[in-house]
Amino acid sequence: MILRDGLGLFTLARAGSIVSHLNAWHWSDIAYLTSYVLVIAGLVCLPHHPLPKATRTRTLIDALMIITAVAAFSWYFVLGPQVVRDSTYTPEELIRVAYPALDLALLFASLLLWARLRDSGIWRIALPLIAGVSVLIASDTSYYYEAVHGFAASSLLLDAGRLTGMALIALGVAAAYLSKAVAESSAQEVALMNLATPKMWRYLMPNALIPAVVVLLVCAARTDASGALQPGLYFVGAVLIELVFVHQFLAYRELISFSNKSARLESLATADPVTGLPNHRSVITTLNQEIEQCQRHGRSCTLLFLDLDHFKALNDTFGHQLGDAALREFASAVRLALRAGDTLGRWGGEEFVALLPSTEIDEALIVAERARSTVDSHAFRAVGGGRITCSIGLAGYPHHARDRGALLEVADQAMYAAKRLGRNRVCMVGDLPPYDADRSPRSRDDDALAGIVEALAILIEAADPAAGERGRAVSSLSRALAEALGMDPTKIRMLDLAGRLLDIGAVSMGAQLLQKSSPLLEDEWHAMRAHPNVSGEAVGRVPALRPLVPAIRGHHEHWDGAGYPDGLAGEAIPMSARILAVADAYIAMTSDRPFQKSRSKEAAIEELRSCAGTQFDPAVVQALEQVLGVPSSMNQLTMTS
Ligand code: GH3
Ligand code: MG
Ligand code: MG
Repeated sequence: MILRDGLGLFTLARAGSIVSHLNAWHWSDIAYLTSYVLVIAGLVCLPHHPLPKATRTRTLIDALMIITAVAAFSWYFVLGPQVVRDSTYTPEELIRVAYPALDLALLFASLLLWARLRDSGIWRIALPLIAGVSVLIASDTSYYYEAVHGFAASSLLLDAGRLTGMALIALGVAAAYLSKAVAESSAQEVALMNLATPKMWRYLMPNALIPAVVVLLVCAARTDASGALQPGLYFVGAVLIELVFVHQFLAYRELISFSNKSARLESLATADPVTGLPNHRSVITTLNQEIEQCQRHGRSCTLLFLDLDHFKALNDTFGHQLGDAALREFASAVRLALRAGDTLGRWGGEEFVALLPSTEIDEALIVAERARSTVDSHAFRAVGGGRITCSIGLAGYPHHARDRGALLEVADQAMYAAKRLGRNRVCMVGDLPPYDADRSPRSRDDDALAGIVEALAILIEAADPAAGERGRAVSSLSRALAEALGMDPTKIRMLDLAGRLLDIGAVSMGAQLLQKSSPLLEDEWHAMRAHPNVSGEAVGRVPALRPLVPAIRGHHEHWDGAGYPDGLAGEAIPMSARILAVADAYIAMTSDRPFQKSRSKEAAIEELRSCAGTQFDPAVVQALEQVLGVPSSMNQLTMTS
């Protein structure tokens, strides 16, 4: 708008100048000069993106330095001679001085605009404006230089220059009208500008003006015999020197703040925000470096993989914030237990990694145990002085693995071994013993499952103490059978639990029926035959126990299909149910029951063997013989008979 008005006034001035003499002061000069002022105002008021404060100040000082240097030249060549020559201050004289002075102001405004050329979209407007202003200044300056120094100043050239300049400015104004309003920069753009690396040449460039001004001063001292121009030049020189100091001071501050900022950014990229420890990426870098060193110098190093025990439960109880505080306390406790050269980093979640450089396994075991016991004995303030433990896996390079990936994997496996062995311990890979259901509560879910089974087993035992005892025996024998048959450890665990709950349905029949010594009546048999169904039904109501249902429901099925409740046969009966059936029958036969005396081990085996292939799976019966260590002679005897 201001630019447009400036241009309008310029057109009027042109019209005025056509009907008037250029040399005399005329209203057209007023219009001309006003148009300059408006163009300057327009340049300054162009919408722009907010530059960072430090950059804005530096840009201003840069522009001031340039303008001061240019002012020195202008003073020497154009302005000064006019002012000095004529001290009458007539309107004509003032106007003649006003043109070069306004040219300087115009240049200053253009310099400020130049600094904003990085703003998206603004260059379309700014470039023609700056070009126009440059042409204006150049033509004005050459005209006045010629006029001042007694050459034949060509007003035609001046007019041509001014016309071209104003045409370019008009182009810039048209571009401003045509393009949509320059978009305000988003906070993100400003942040990016803040992060942009400051360019060294930008800091140094304005200083290049100093030698130019010095040369000018020297020339002036030699050529200006009257010395009339020199006070002005010295004044401008002094201003320039002060500006240089301010400029250097600001540049220094900007560089310091940038290096602080980049240090902060770097720490954000490599440190974990919760604990302040090196993050995953940083740990990998350190590990790579250490392994490279080990390879180069034939050294060893050790890696510890630390995982907090049952941390989810702690988080669920105390909330994430206190969980984070506990992680911080944990990190400090472990850090204290490690040695100065060791690196502790956060691997992710509640998992940490410690790298012990140049450390053999024996020494690392001592450090790891110290870390474990420090954590174990620490009263965690975040959780009201409660205890938190951790499981630590240990792996050595090159003893356990030959590269970073393998080393991490082995340490992770060792950590899981520590979990399986009951947590709160240090393990190396290979420390995990064969499956041991009593000592390997694998996870929190497993613990919960075992708790439910235990609670139900207590109820069974309360209703029928012998059934409780029997449940434990069936469970233990089934586990041994399953191991002998090479069953998968997870299934063995399920079988173990199923054994404890086998007779849960029988509780519903009442103690009287369970302990009856005389043969059962028809309806009593009916109730008895229903118990696997009831057991399966009851157990199936607890979602976590559903995997046990097939084993419990099928433990009275017969290999030949004559069993109950579903009449399944052969392999259609789940393997776990076939195992439970043999274990249940063997334990029943070898323990005292109200209606029959216990049989000997051999007799029980003989009975089972005779039913192998009809009631029982022959493979399971054979596994039983193996588990019970039946003498081979007996095996032989049976085979031949
Ligand atoms: P385990 O002994 O088997 O390791 O059990 P756990 O509960 O520690 O392991 P699990 O992997 O089941 O749960 C890890 C939990 O760690 C899940 C999440 O609640 C918690 N966790 C992970 N990252 C953070 C974190 O940055 N802050 C907090 N407060 N908790 C986290
Ligand atoms: Mg974990
Ligand atoms: Mg954990």
